[in-house]
This record gives sequence, C-alpha cells and structure tokens, in this order.
Amino acid sequence: MSKPDYYEVLSVSREVTVTELKKAYRQKALEFHPDRNPDDAQAEEQFKICAEAYSVLSDPQKRQMYDRFGHAGLGGAGAPGFGDIGDVFSQFQDIFGDLFGGGGGGFGFGGFGRRRRDPNAPTRGADIRTDVSLTLREAAFGATRQIDLSHPSPCEACHGTGAKDGALEGCATCGGRGQVARAQGAFVMTTTCPSCRGRGSQAKEACDECEGGGQVDVERVVKINVPGGVDTGQSLRLSGRGQEGTRGGPAGDLYVTVHVEPDEDFQREEFDLVHRLVVTYPQAALGAKLEAPAFEEDEEATQTVKVPSGTQAGETLLVRGGGIPRLNGRGRGDLICLVEVEVPKRLSREQKRLLKELDRSFDES
Ligand SMILES: [Zn+2]
Ligand SMILES: [Zn+2]
Repeated sequence: MSKPDYYEVLSVSREVTVTELKKAYRQKALEFHPDRNPDDAQAEEQFKICAEAYSVLSDPQKRQMYDRFGHAGLGGAGAPGFGDIGDVFSQFQDIFGDLFGGGGGGFGFGGFGRRRRDPNAPTRGADIRTDVSLTLREAAFGATRQIDLSHPSPCEACHGTGAKDGALEGCATCGGRGQVARAQGAFVMTTTCPSCRGRGSQAKEACDECEGGGQVDVERVVKINVPGGVDTGQSLRLSGRGQEGTRGGPAGDLYVTVHVEPDEDFQREEFDLVHRLVVTYPQAALGAKLEAPAFEEDEEATQTVKVPSGTQAGETLLVRGGGIPRLNGRGRGDLICLVEVEVPKRLSREQKRLLKELDRSFDES
C-alpha cells in the first residue's frame, strides 16, 4: 500500500518550521479528533496518519531521511504506524494536553486517553460567555450594565452530590471502584462505570431540589463596568464570575463581548469620528459658523464648526480631539466633518428668481 506524502497530509510546505509544523498538526488533530468524529472510520484513519506524519517530520533525523529517500528512507521501522488510537494520545500528550485540557467545556479524551480524571476531584466551574450592546457614547466614555445570566449551578441542598441529605452509598454496579471491566474477545476492557459515572458512590435517595442531577438552573444579575474606549468584538474578562466550581473547585470566568450600535450622527473610524456636515450652497460659498453635534457624554452637547468660504462638497473639516477617548487615557481621536452641500429640492418663487439672477451673474462675470 503506498503511503501519502507526509507534508501533504499536514498541508504544510517542505520548508515548514518546527513551530509551524506543530501548529499544523494541532489543527489537523483537532479536525479529525475522534471526539468530534464519533464512529467515523475515515476520520480515525486520518487522525492516525497525521500523527504518523508528525512523528516523522518532528524528528530531525527521520525528517532528513524522509526528505532524501521518501518512505523508503524510513525503512518501515522508522515510521511508527499507530494501530491504536490510544497510542497517539500517549505519544503526543504534550500537544494534546494543552489542546484539549483545561479548556473547561471543551471536549476531553473520552475513552481514548490514558489520563483519567478523578471524578471526585474539585472541578473548576465553566466559563460563561455573554454579550453586551452599547451605544457609541457608552463604548467611548464607559458604562455600567446589569447583565442577567441564567446557567446551571451546583445544587446547594445536596452540595452538588445529587443525594438527599448528602447520603451516599457505594455504587453497586462497580463496587465503588468507579470502573467496570467487560470482556471483549480476548481482551478485558475497562470503562467508566455507567451507574455512578466514575464516582464510585451513588445517592441513597435522589435530592429533591435537583432530582439527583446535582445541578440546578440559577438566574443572577452581574453588574459590569465597561471601561471607555472599547470597540465591537472586544471581550471583557471577569475573573471568577462564571459558573461555580464543584467540590470546592474555583469558579469559572465570565467573558462579555462588546457590540457597539451604530450612531446617527457619528461614524467610528478607530478613534476618529466622521460626521456628515450638511451645509447650504450659500453657506459653503460665503463661509459660515454652524452648530454641529459634539461627541460628549451628554447627547445634547453641540459645538460651533467654522466652514470657511469657498468650501467644496466632499471637503473635510477637522476638529482636533473631538473623537473617541483612547483606552489608555492618552488623549482623544479627531472629529472629521465631511462636508455635504445640500441642493434644495423645492424652491419658492422668490428663491427661484434669486437663483436665476445669481446664475445670470455667473454668465456675466
Ligand atoms: Zn459505579
Ligand atoms: Zn440537589
């Protein structure tokens, strides 16, 4: 059977660096991970081939042999065929460790990994992600918000055990070991006990509050202070404001993603603001001092903008420091007034007469 090209398998060039290689492999492993592709034999095969490719290309000596002689250079012995998917995990634990571990709410090793988490150990609460919508002014000058959250939390009545009065007894299915052995052909497979989910103990009687699940849905309100200068897509992290941990584990974090609503008067360009300043033809020609909205916390704030005589449509007038305050407190962006000359659609008889007269005067000059 001919083997695929290892560089192609990982979608990398022949000049790939060690760091890029590791990154490419992580990506592939994530894509074909068995937890993401349950019962998909093709994905599993890809997963193994990627591991094989990475094991060769990440070894400088093997990579050199492979570059010079191809698969033949590895002599069959050099490339470790990964027969068992568990081997993949045990060999590249450093990669999978930070790829799948610690994410909270990510996916774990399932039944494949060699590492087995103690189900009775303290567990960090899951992170919560939510969004907050702000006006442009709130995003620029800061705001406080009350955010309603609804999420599962360890049941207080049973301290998350799911047992009425906290009364537990050894699991009958696994005899308290948390694992059950099952013969499969010549092998004995050990799997997590389905009755107690690995805990080794069971509730004598289910807790009334959570019906034995150990969790209840809670609703709470979190007050957040959004600093001035934030923009759409930025996230605020509130440490320890996520879901509560279980068995004494720390709480997760709360991530709040900012969305800034469009503003009627001002369009944001990073820290500058663009305002369309509509002027009449006489104002543009003769020059004028106009009242324009000012970008301040007070929505009613205005400022005087000087339009010089002979201003053309599409010209910009700059108001220095009239933009968005920078996050680090170093001044503000500018306000750019984009001049639009308004052409009247309806005219009185008198206005028509005056314009015609004006038009004639241009012909004469
Ligand atoms: Zn059990
Ligand atoms: Zn309970």
